[in-house]
Amino acid sequence: MPEPFHVLIIGGGIGGLTLAQGLKRAGVSTAIYERDRTLTDRLQGYRVHISPTGSLALHECLPPHLFEVFDRTCGAPTSVVRFFTEQMRLLLAFDGDLVATTDPVARHRSASRITLRQVLLADLDNLHFGKTFQCYQEHGGRTTAYFEDGTSVEGDVLVAADGGGSRVRRQFLPDAQRVDTGVVGIAGKIFLDTARDRIARPLLEGISLVAARGGFGLFVAVQEMTGGVISGIGGNEPALAGTGNLYENMRSYLMWALSAKRQKFGLVDVEQADSAALVAAAARIMAGWSRGFRDLVGLADPTTISCLPIRTSVPIAPWRTGRITLLGDAIHSMTPYRGIGANVAIKDAARLKRALVAAHRGERDLVEAIGDYEAGMLGYGFRAVRNSLKAMHQTVTDSVSALMFSRLTLRAINALPPVKRMMAKRLGEEWIITPTVAPAAPLNCRRFPWRAAPPAGC
Ligand SMILES: Cc1cc2nc3c(=O)[nH]c(=O)nc-3n(C[C@H](O)[C@H](O)[C@H](O)COP(=O)(O)OP(=O)(O)OC[C@H]3O[C@@H](n4cnc5c(N)ncnc54)[C@H](O)[C@@H]3O)c2cc1C
Repeated sequence: MPEPFHVLIIGGGIGGLTLAQGLKRAGVSTAIYERDRTLTDRLQGYRVHISPTGSLALHECLPPHLFEVFDRTCGAPTSVVRFFTEQMRLLLAFDGDLVATTDPVARHRSASRITLRQVLLADLDNLHFGKTFQCYQEHGGRTTAYFEDGTSVEGDVLVAADGGGSRVRRQFLPDAQRVDTGVVGIAGKIFLDTARDRIARPLLEGISLVAARGGFGLFVAVQEMTGGVISGIGGNEPALAGTGNLYENMRSYLMWALSAKRQKFGLVDVEQADSAALVAAAARIMAGWSRGFRDLVGLADPTTISCLPIRTSVPIAPWRTGRITLLGDAIHSMTPYRGIGANVAIKDAARLKRALVAAHRGERDLVEAIGDYEAGMLGYGFRAVRNSLKAMHQTVTDSVSALMFSRLTLRAINALPPVKRMMAKRLGEEWIITPTVAPAAPLNCRRFPWRAAPPAGC
């Protein structure tokens, strides 16, 4: 008979909750500890693009009725991804059949972050909010997790799913680095019920990407809310009343995000600037752009304007496997320029679930199964980190020659249907979509001691 074991998951974000759902389905004893009390404690973008791989992994972990709710509460499917110049000249278009598939599971989806979280939280019983993890201690094959409120819990496996600033990672892999790229993004939401007819038509058709002269990037995506509320999922959170429209979850909208190196916004401290200063900076930057892009800035609801610093993890070498492991941003956080971080976290969750379930059933040794999960995850996870960083450098490049070469390449791909079809298959996956035209910053590979001493006071 296999030894029963209990899994502690630190962090109830996209990856941690997907794992919890998968383990619950398989009957593995699990508890989740999440620091946030409400959905307004933190903003990490408004919508999230779920790729065919992410969809398959969610399908594997969620019970069928919840996957159906997830599917029905997603925004209208994205069937258009286009690359433009800042003058709105088309460079490359993935339209219609190239993006849409007939597979009912493995397809691209445009999910609201709030709704996805509602789906992932549904039916989970052993979920503890307001539990901020502080540190852990290992003893005789078990692990005790300590929380800021003075409580502690014991388990056999500890999973770090606590996002980019992971405290578990800081203790377990103290030399692992997550660095500031020097790039920041300003984002805003435009509600379509009041502004649809004032938005340039091509921007309402899907996702639009711009790498502009001067080192500026623009991302535009439309989120058409078509599903409504199903089984209590897909609505606004009662706790969000009075927080403006930042977390509004029922009205269709278009979101835009303008990014560049921090100093290019011309503000003393862009991250601390108020909404009016951010809008003025964006309007200044986009002054010479096509009117269709320029108009987006003024149309955004001022309560939705936010600023986000872009960070990335530094690739690391493998460590000796034990009963503490990591998933998602806690180990491989990446820039949002490929829009794949959540998909990789979900894929991690499904793979780790498979490993733990095999051990639970006595089909595999627990540590060996975790080791196999980690070996694969470090490979594809850091490939995604590198490709996301390259995509950022390509987008906010200061080099006119690199930008021109990139535009030529996109035009050439657009003129070659077989190449285009091949690339369309890779949209939203870890592989790179466009050839590298700007060198990525060198990333050092670090090697770690496999176990670090607990921090003082733990
Ligand atoms: C602007 C932006 C847009 C993006 N768009 C996309 C996209 O379109 N597609 C895509 O695939 N990815 C996208 N991403 C990336 C994606 O959001 C992340 O990769 C994904 O959320 C990672 O999931 P996670 O579960 O690892 O971490 P998170 O979702 O960050 O969850 C971590 C959880 O741990 C909790 N936590 C943290 N510290 C503690 C603690 N000490 N104790 C207890 N709990 C703790 C947090 O509160 C949180 O709930 C985007 C990111 C950004 C910034």
